[in-house]
Amino acid sequence: MTTGQASLGKAWITKKAREIVALGRELLGGNGIVTDFHVGKAFCDMESLYTYEGSYEVNALIVARDITGIASIRPASRL
Ligand SMILES: Cc1cc2nc3c(=O)[nH]c(=O)nc-3n(C[C@H](O)[C@H](O)[C@H](O)COP(=O)(O)OP(=O)(O)OC[C@H]3O[C@@H](n4cnc5c(N)ncnc54)[C@H](O)[C@@H]3O)c2cc1C
Repeated sequence: MTTGQASLGKAWITKKAREIVALGRELLGGNGIVTDFHVGKAFCDMESLYTYEGSYEVNALIVARDITGIASIRPASRL
């Protein structure tokens, strides 16, 4: 697996999962926020997953670099 393929998987999965937990929260109305139901916890957990190990935007840039060969992000050593 290339770095770009890994980034594509993470970006796509976390974007869709974020939409799904938001829908789950919405379906339960006010109960989607209270701690008696676990959907609120899933909603908060997804916000972390969307950002750590590479944020959605940075993963998207890595995918674009893999596809086009053009890097819009520079390695830290060249900053
Ligand atoms: C729960 C949690 C656990 C974590 N655990 C660890 C850990 O164990 N080890 C570790 O090293 N780090 C850890 N992190 C840090 C994580 O890796 C960073 O939060 C993540 O890489 C984003 O960096 P940042 O927070 O500095 O955001 P920034 O880099 O400041 O980004 C802020 C926003 O700008 C966007 N952005 C940034 N650069 C660009 C760009 N060039 N083009 C377009 N948009 C851009 C980002 O997508 C984001 O939306 C953790 C974070 C969280 C939330």
